[in-house]
Formats: sequence, structure tokens, C-alpha cells
Amino acid sequence: TPASVGPFTVVLLGDNGVGKSALASIFAGASDSMGSECELYGGEVFEQTIPVDGERATVTLLDMWDSQDEGSWTQERCLQTGDAFIIVYAITDRSSFLHASELRIQLRREREADRTPIILVGNKCDLVRCREVSISEGRASAAVFDCKFIETSAAMQHNVWPLFEGIIRQLRLRRDSL
Ligand code: GDP
Ligand code: MG
Repeated sequence: TPASVGPFTVVLLGDNGVGKSALASIFAGASDSMGSECELYGGEVFEQTIPVDGERATVTLLDMWDSQDEGSWTQERCLQTGDAFIIVYAITDRSSFLHASELRIQLRREREADRTPIILVGNKCDLVRCREVSISEGRASAAVFDCKFIETSAAMQHNVWPLFEGIIRQLRLRRDSL
């Protein structure tokens, strides 16, 4: 098998209940043989090697963010260890969207001046009748904070792989520009 790039550490951030673990379990379920899983600091860590544009990339996905645990050691570790970040809100929950912006500001403060890839994710896009955040608001917020944007539905498995592929492409672009 050809060599793969990485491992890249990708960290899931966002309010409790927005669907981080649902997204992580789709990532984890990609294959039974290559993926591995373990528990760390009360959260979960998943590793997968994924082919993107003909190159294999190994990603370690951290699902251990607890939004109730403000300022904790685990939160600090999460913000410091990521090579890239997935900031998730639920399109059905405006406060999770506002908190996503705060997380972006917090990340910029902690990771000053480095071009850490970030994707803003509006999850639960299957719940159209309960939508509280429009696609254009999501897009505009991502533009303001200089990150990528995608809407997903973990429940419908919609746009979940494009999300992970997108973060890998950003990581490669950043690597190639160093
Ligand atoms: P976390 O706290 O961010 O890890 O959120 P979870 O992954 O535990 O999800 C919280 C709840 O939202 C669970 O009941 C999930 O089944 C549900 N959920 C997660 N993603 C989606 C989605 O895309 N659509 C819908 N309808 N429900 C979702
Ligand atoms: Mg969770």
C-alpha cells in the first residue's frame, strides 16, 4: 500500500447536543479493519486512513469537547492539540450558532497567527421545520471568521464525508504552503 500523509489531529468543538458524537461515529464506522478507537480524558479518539484525491490521509479525530466544562484542562488540551478544527452548531439551535462564533474567536486568540484549518458545520440540516439559522447566515459567519462552511445531517448521513474530505484538503493545502 502507498504511504499515507498524517496523522493529522482533528478536533470536534461545539455545544453539547449539536451532533459531534453522531458525526464522529460515522467517521469511526468507515471501516472495521483499519479504524481504531480508544477513550481518552473522558472523550473518544478515532483514527482512520481515508483516500482523498488519490492520496491516503490518516486522521485522528478527537471527540472530547464538553461545552459545560468551561476553561477546563481538557478544553485547553483540545484547543492546543488540533491540527484542524471542526466547529459544529445545530441549525435548529441559534445559541449553538452564537457559541460557534465565540469558539472561533477563542481559537484565534489561542492559536494566534497560525493558519489552522477550520470548518464551520451547521448540523441537523434534515430538521428543516425547526431551522433557526439560515444557510446564508452560516455562510456569512464563516466568511467573517475566515473559515470553510458546510451544512450536514449526521442523521441522514448527508455531507458528512465531504466534511472530512474538506478538512483533509485544507490540511494538505496548508502543508504544501509551508
Ligand atoms: P454531541 O453532544 O454534540 O456529541 O451530540 P450527539 O451526537 O450526542 O447528538 C445529540 C442528539 O442529536 C442525539 O439525540 C442525536 O441523535 C441527535 N442528532 C445528531 N445529529 C443529528 C442530525 O443530523 N439530525 C437529527 N435530526 N438529529 C441529530
Ligand atoms: Mg458527544
